[in-house]
Amino acid sequence: MDRIYEGKAKIVYRTDDPERVLMHFKDAATAFNGKKRGEIAGKGRMNAGITVALFRHLERAGVATHLLEQPAPDELLVRRLTMLPLEVVVRNLAAGSMSHRLGLEEGRPLSLPVREFYLKNDQLGDPWVNRHHILALGLADAAQVAGMEELAGRINELLRRFFAERELELVDFKLEFGEAEGRLILGDEITPDTCRLWQVGSHERMDKDRFRRDLGGVDDAYREVFRRVTGKEADHVAG
Ligand code: UDP
Repeated sequence: MDRIYEGKAKIVYRTDDPERVLMHFKDAATAFNGKKRGEIAGKGRMNAGITVALFRHLERAGVATHLLEQPAPDELLVRRLTMLPLEVVVRNLAAGSMSHRLGLEEGRPLSLPVREFYLKNDQLGDPWVNRHHILALGLADAAQVAGMEELAGRINELLRRFFAERELELVDFKLEFGEAEGRLILGDEITPDTCRLWQVGSHERMDKDRFRRDLGGVDDAYREVFRRVTGKEADHVAG
């Protein structure tokens, strides 16, 4: 099959239909902009399944996503979008780069969900950009920026509640948006690779920080998130 793009965690293939592409989720794991590499057993299948469950939940609440079908456990058929070259991060508690940059203890509550934009550029390490950079460089227009901020806020409310019902605290996460027919649509994935999820109460890390920080128990954390999000045992998909 014809590859359109190969990233660190996914490969995107062309299909017979120009409006649809196939996303293959890999078991490969990377961190620190590709400097740390490894593999998480069954991650491709678990992340595809988690994305399906979360995107279906968002769709039911009226958020448009690119998801069409799951033809295989580690593959999603999605609508082809014209992607905006940005990552949108939403934060409910300080952690990761925000804690480092601003000298904040991880887990410090934020009085409103903080939304940040990063330029998608591996060579530059996805630098932080603000609204003025985005508009001045034509990365997106004012309506798209406002639309992404509003959608990111709505998605955060929906996912926070969804995860809280499953004893997981949504600390922060990353979204990517694209357009089709002039409409903003949620693309990419939402998985423990792209979210910080903490066990309610103990604050045990249930996400890629276990891999980034060598905390051990990486596979088990992904399996547990898969189980709570999809209601299925990971053994059926991860084997
Ligand atoms: N994130 C991501 N892809 C990136 C950068 C960040 O999915 O290229 C996610 C990350 O998993 C976390 C959130 O966005 O849930 C905020 O990440 P942060 O800026 O704290 O960076 P980190 O310290 O994780 O590199």
